[in-house]
This record gives sequence, structure tokens and C-alpha cells, in this order.
Amino acid sequence: MNNEKIKEMGLKYIMNTYGRHEFALVRGEGSWVWDADGKKYLDMVAGIAVNNVGHCHPRVVAAIREQAGTLLHCSNLYWIEPQVKLGKLLTDNSFAENVFFCNSGAEANEAAIKLARKWSSNKYGSGRYEIITADNSFHGRTLTTVTATGQPKYHQGFEPLTPGFVHVPYNDLAALTEAVGEKTCAVLLEPMQGEGGVYAGASEYIKGVKKLCQEKDLLLIFDEVQTGLGRTGKLFAYQHYGIEPDVMTLAKGLGGGVPIGAMLAKGEAAVTFQPGEHASTFGGNPLATTAALAALGVIIDEKLFCQAEEKGAYIKKKVNAMKADNPLIAEIRGMGLLVGIEITIAGKPVQEYCQKKGLIINCVQEKVLRLVPPLNITYDEIDEALAIIEEALQHFLT
Ligand SMILES: *Cc1c(COP(=O)(O)O)cnc(C)c1O
Repeated sequence: MNNEKIKEMGLKYIMNTYGRHEFALVRGEGSWVWDADGKKYLDMVAGIAVNNVGHCHPRVVAAIREQAGTLLHCSNLYWIEPQVKLGKLLTDNSFAENVFFCNSGAEANEAAIKLARKWSSNKYGSGRYEIITADNSFHGRTLTTVTATGQPKYHQGFEPLTPGFVHVPYNDLAALTEAVGEKTCAVLLEPMQGEGGVYAGASEYIKGVKKLCQEKDLLLIFDEVQTGLGRTGKLFAYQHYGIEPDVMTLAKGLGGGVPIGAMLAKGEAAVTFQPGEHASTFGGNPLATTAALAALGVIIDEKLFCQAEEKGAYIKKKVNAMKADNPLIAEIRGMGLLVGIEITIAGKPVQEYCQKKGLIINCVQEKVLRLVPPLNITYDEIDEALAIIEEALQHFLT
């Protein structure tokens, strides 16, 4: 089928939940993808921070092939070898002591929210259930995670929302401190906001939040669904701040393209759930955990987080040089290979121009071009992408 045919069928049979581009992607390799008409694109979206090891990484593909012929699924009523190995690999490489596996970022946050309430109810009894999150945050689309998400546009028409969430401005310690009350049990934050426009948590803020959580005995939950797995220049973004959360959620980059989510915890949080208190049929299944073992193995063995750090700095330097000649560029921000270029005009036409030239980029909050390429993208590929972005911004300047 070609792009047109696929689109036509999609409009008829698929629910209209996405503002989709005009083409279908049918194949990927490394930093490149091909559409159904055979056009090739350099991919700076990477499934929105999913394909951290690039498309169809040979180690991930081989692991999936092997596992597909061995055991695709079995229930969590039995031990699952790749799941326990992935649990060890994740905890060996993070603050955490143990892991709960699920299938997506929203589910991981949902699990973390349930965990926080359960922990607090065990320790303090009922009534201490409130979770503080940030304005402009993004935590997922289930009814509860969308409530946690501090963007009213995602709430409209879905009321009544889940009770027990309070939103405060991001990077504002005073506002957060003020919001803590007798009912508060946890703080849920992205160490760097992605969907919200690419804003990193300030060092004093994150450290201050940690201290506040310790003083008030609140669980600190980091949503690292987007920032985790090497994206920001460390394996996990919390490592930039010299502090550890109590709970961390992961998804996007974990499975190398296969759906998987995880909630990691230490201390009291890690031993809160008892049999029957939380579950997922597919969570941590043999196929997904095998894929994740391979993908995380690549990220660790090839130190892709170091590459993200260096390549992110390279992109920032080059875009800053571009900025000198182009007043459309307002600001460049981000950490590692989660880069935001804020421009003074609407991002969509820029995105479309780039697409025509064979580059796919993402746009958030109307005016922020978000670059989240594979962490193993080459410098030549980065140069190629930035040349197209520069050309596009020149085009709209005149
Ligand atoms: C993408 C994202 C989610 C939601 O993940 P899904 O897998 O789409 O449910 C949650 N939190 C953050 C920070 C994200 O970027």
C-alpha cells in the first residue's frame, strides 16, 4: 500500500485521536525511516524518545527473534527469566532496589500513584493521599495520569477527574513548599519537562524538593518516562542532581521500540505492594523484557548516555551559532539529546518544510522544535539535520 491508500483506510477505520502527518512509516534502520512511497527521512523524533538505540538495532532484533520462537507470553503467576534479569540490570544501574513491570508510561505512573497512596495509608492511615505535580507536566492519558498532568487542555470534558491532585508551577520551590499540607503523601515530577516545552529542573529546585520530601516524609516520584535510558546525558536524569528519588517510572526508550513500562523503587516504597495489590497481565512478559534487556544492554555497553551528552552539546553549540544569524531562534535548551529550539513563529510550517526535505522533527507547545533523535545518531547525520533546520528557518525569515 502507498501513503495515500494507508491514509484513506486509516481515516475510515482508526479513531481520530491523533493529528497525523500525511504519510505512513513502513521501515527503519538506525537514524533513518522510510515511508510507504519509498521516501527516506532522517528521524529526529525516534518514536518520540523511544528509539534510543536507533531503529531495528541488530542486537534488539536478534533477541526478539530468538525469544519469539521460545516463549512469547506467560503469566506473572510464574517466574519469568528475562524479567528477573531485567530487574537486576535496572537496579544494578540505578538507585532502586526492585521493579514492577507494566506496558507503558501512563501505566508506570498509575502504578507509582497507587504505590504512594498505599504506602501512605499503611504508614499514616486514611486521608493522606494528595499528590503534588507541576503545571505543564505530562504523565499520561489514563484518567488518573491525565489528572496528574498539569495541562487543563487535556482535562476538558473528562471531568470528574480523579481526586487528590494539586498542581504548582515548575521550578518554583516556594510554591511547592506552600502546597504541602496534612493530606500530602507524594510529589510527582519530571526532572526535565519534555512535552511541556523542554524545561530542565533547576539544580537548587530538585535538591530543594528532595529535602522537602525528606522533612515531610513524602515520597519523591520521578517520571523519567522520557528522560530515562540515556536521553539526557546520564543513564537517568536524576543522576544530574546528586540526589535520588524514592520511586522512578520508565517506559519510552526501555524496550528499544517494544512496549514496556517500569516502576522502580527503594526503601519503604519498594516493599509496599503485597500479592494481589497491583498487577498487569502483559507486564514484564518474556518478549518485552527480552527486548529491553537487549536495548538497555546496548545503552550501557556502548555508553550511549555519554554520546547523548556530547552530541547534545554539539547541537546546542551549532544552533547557538545559527541563532546569531537568525532572529527566529529565541532560545535553545535541554539536556543531552532532549533538545528544544524555541522559535518566534509557529513550529508546524517549519516542521512541514523539514519533512519535505527529508527530515522529521517534533513540535511541542506550538513554538518549540523538539529534537529527540536516536542516541547513536552520527555527527554527519546531526550536521545534515541541522543544515535542513537552518534552511527552513532561513526560508521563513524571508
Ligand atoms: C510519554 C510520556 C508519558 C506517557 O507514556 P505512554 O507510554 O504514552 O503512556 C508519561 N510521562 C512522560 C514524561 C512522557 O514523556
